Amino acid sequence: MTSIWTQLEPLLARVQKPARYIGCEDGAQAPEHRSDKVSWLLAYPDAYEIGLPNQGLQILYEILNERTDAVAERTYAPWTDLEALLRAHGLPLFSVDTHRPAGEFDVLAFNLSAELVYTNVLNCIDLAGVPVRAAARDPEHPLIGAGGHCTYNPEPLADFLDFAVLGDGEEVVAEITGVVGAWKRAGRASRADVLLDLARITGVYVPSLYDVDYHADGTIASVSPRHPDVPAVVEKRTIADLADWPYPKNQLVPLTEVVHDRLNVEVFRGCTRGCRFCQAGMITRPVRERPADQVRHMITSGLKRTGYDEVALTSLSTADFSGIERVVADTAGEDNVSVSLPSLRVDAFTVGIAAQIQKARRTGLTFAPEAGSWRMRQVINKLITEDDLYGAVESAYSQGWRRMKLYFLTGLPTETDEDTLGIAELARRCVEIGRRYHKGASVTISVGGFVPKPFTPFQWFGQNTVAELTRKVNLLRDALRRDKGVQLKWHDPKATLIEGLASRGDRRLGPVIEQVWRRGGVFQEWSEHFDLELWDTAMSDHGLSTDWYVHRHRTEGEVLPWDHISAGLHKDFLWQDWRDALAEVGLPDCRWTPCYDCGACTGYGIEHIVASATPPAGGSQGTGQLVFLSGAR
Ligand code: SF4
Repeated sequence: MTSIWTQLEPLLARVQKPARYIGCEDGAQAPEHRSDKVSWLLAYPDAYEIGLPNQGLQILYEILNERTDAVAERTYAPWTDLEALLRAHGLPLFSVDTHRPAGEFDVLAFNLSAELVYTNVLNCIDLAGVPVRAAARDPEHPLIGAGGHCTYNPEPLADFLDFAVLGDGEEVVAEITGVVGAWKRAGRASRADVLLDLARITGVYVPSLYDVDYHADGTIASVSPRHPDVPAVVEKRTIADLADWPYPKNQLVPLTEVVHDRLNVEVFRGCTRGCRFCQAGMITRPVRERPADQVRHMITSGLKRTGYDEVALTSLSTADFSGIERVVADTAGEDNVSVSLPSLRVDAFTVGIAAQIQKARRTGLTFAPEAGSWRMRQVINKLITEDDLYGAVESAYSQGWRRMKLYFLTGLPTETDEDTLGIAELARRCVEIGRRYHKGASVTISVGGFVPKPFTPFQWFGQNTVAELTRKVNLLRDALRRDKGVQLKWHDPKATLIEGLASRGDRRLGPVIEQVWRRGGVFQEWSEHFDLELWDTAMSDHGLSTDWYVHRHRTEGEVLPWDHISAGLHKDFLWQDWRDALAEVGLPDCRWTPCYDCGACTGYGIEHIVASATPPAGGSQGTGQLVFLSGAR
């Protein structure tokens, strides 16, 4: 295996951001490749500055490189300028660590965090010199795998992936390495053999080993395994205790600007708040907190090693971490270190936390009320009252913040114009509160179109059309026209449409994704590259209806494209939760109330790991007090 650096280097002078491709970050590795080691190329199918901070990829990079039987390097989707040069000079996709050709690795594994990167996946496979369709690959080609949240519905990529991993990757990568290593030692004879062995590993799904039959109306009749050893339902992997996995130990420090450019320390995994729109919360249950001492150690050693002066405590809802105030106080006590809490629930954000995190330097503050009315928040089970929100906002303004961001969704089930306009009202009130403390206080409202996701209670809901989402955004725009303290931003409803198509699509979308890619549709999550016409043409060329896939309400009995995948959640629990949503009935957090048997713990014999038996101070949820009181404020 040889580096292509000498051919690549002259081309880098001709691209926009050469630093995307040179590697050499602090924390980067140059592992020794040997024929008795399984070589992994971990790929993030988006630009370097989006992919580099990805913690999942960095964790696996370290875990694999610590093994004696594996090596791991990284790659990111080359931007269109470099792609054109690579193709013109006959050069392949390469690793950024040692600039080896991607096609020479044993495994090319993609991190799938968003659906709009699917065409980039095909582009990377093709640039690696590998046939994009799994069926056309030979034994000498790398195995093409994927992990990340999108693999809970891997069906749109079924034609292109050899395997997909469901759930936490820390343990399963060792088992995959074992299978691939044995296959290499046996002479790499047949691809079918290694795929069957991979399918026997819990948490690994091999799409080509399943047949899908359809009813005349287009819905799925059945999904059946082609081999007796292949499970009818593929279960996700869950690591029981985060304390056993203190990764990344050597977070990468980039040489160029990237998103989330700071030390990131994961404080817990999983969430049981039960927000009904939130796929991440549902599929990562149960909650597993990292011990506070380990968090402190990771912060101290990480800051020392990297030289960062900002640390983000990451999770799906960081203020829920037991003893959060103590950890924040200890960290903010270090010289000039600022703490950011990227996912804050307003009902757990207290004056105490605000006071601590503003000690060094005030980082940006973002809250996600998600909906503008209490009625709507009951439907989505985001059980924060207006008092919770105004209390949090007041805590922040009183501690010196002058502006903050508020995230909302529109297009939610049962949403009325009154609910949508409630967003404007909340924003106005927040500015009013802020102006009690600062003359120029302001808020930025960011509104995204709601996309129903697999393994959520909203998986049966027909997504709002582009016209309807646009109308709702315009409603808000008009309502806020004269409010100088409120800035409104929104996500393009056309991109929301295609995200919806890919997130609940089935394997018949494979040729559509391939056509969009073949006609130049890459970097579709970037507004300057997104092209709805390419998708519309591909859907109609293949006789498929976007309306049928995206806007149709599903019925209880319909076989969903991901029913042969399991996130542990019982389908009847999700259905009941959907009915409760329509009835505006909330469901409390099971960390602090009796288990309602969603399946995530009971099915796998694991439990929540939390240090505190009581919900965080200041919250309205967890106590169950307000949860069932329709109309409560
Ligand atoms: S199984 Fe019970 S305790 Fe575990 S996440 Fe589901 S409801 Fe909560």
